[in-house]
Amino acid sequence: MHILITGAAGFLGSHLTDRLLREGNTVLGVDNLATGDRENLAHLVNESRFRFFEWDICRPLPADFEAGHLDYIFNFASPASPPEYLRLAIETLTVGSAGTQNILELAARHEAGFLHASTSECYGDPLEHPQTEDYWGNVNPVGPRSVYDEAKRYAEALVMAYHRSRGVNTHLVRIFNTYGPRLQPSDGRVISNFMMQALRGEPLTIYGDGNQTRSFCYVDDLIEGIVRLSRSGVHLPVNIGNPNEFTILECAQTVLEITGSKSELCFEALPEDDPIRRRPDITRARKLLGWEPKIELKEGLTRSLDFFKGKLIMAA
Ligand code: UDP
Repeated sequence: MHILITGAAGFLGSHLTDRLLREGNTVLGVDNLATGDRENLAHLVNESRFRFFEWDICRPLPADFEAGHLDYIFNFASPASPPEYLRLAIETLTVGSAGTQNILELAARHEAGFLHASTSECYGDPLEHPQTEDYWGNVNPVGPRSVYDEAKRYAEALVMAYHRSRGVNTHLVRIFNTYGPRLQPSDGRVISNFMMQALRGEPLTIYGDGNQTRSFCYVDDLIEGIVRLSRSGVHLPVNIGNPNEFTILECAQTVLEITGSKSELCFEALPEDDPIRRRPDITRARKLLGWEPKIELKEGLTRSLDFFKGKLIMAA
């Protein structure tokens, strides 16, 4: 298949690129490098079935996108970590709206399949627990996080409209917290912050009292779920994530254990509208895709250790 991946230089986009190339597909990777990193694709420099194109999908698409038939498009372009989407507030709204619509139009022209990377943030600070896909969410439309949450919610509406009105073969994945190699140490997410702080012997920064929860999925599990969804006949959103739920304090303890670090914990202010708890109900993924995660937090963190150690050496 000829596949286009937007956001290909990002954490998930680059892992998806690797997976699809391993299967023998041809991949055109697109990224404007606002938060993506060329380093994530550096190992593909001699891969003849991969081409990288630096472009902002919010702009009119260049002819390269139309060269040759596209069979499938994965739309992963967006800032995704809270500090980054707060910094790039308007860009985040634009890529979820105008950018995503540009790519949906491309999918319609090519009669290509289309999978959009949506998010558990669609549920906001959820009042139902765990979250099923039928829950409509509890999102503050004017809070700081709204630039991400509402962009992703609008994008879901766009995707469903292109499916219903234009017959595009669309898929929507709601991605829960994911970690693994290539999670950018500087982007401020909890796992990358804790791993780097632990390896440096610095205090682990716990925001709030650390009793808020998240459910962490290892990247390989997530990519498998996404690929299965893209090949399914399921058009409604599907949660992909690991339902094992941890408090942020438990997560910190696990990182200390894995790294053997003696770092202390320090407590800082909780960011505004930070969800209190989050856990996917994955019944739909289990039933319709035969998918469930296999790698638990300790194992996944152990598999990620070399990556973060490497980043530590590079920064030294
Ligand atoms: N968090 C933390 N310390 C950090 C970074 C994050 O305690 O150094 C908390 C954050 O407040 C949130 C959770 O960890 O409750 C997950 O944060 P992250 O930014 O990774 O993703 P989110 O799930 O909020 O999008």
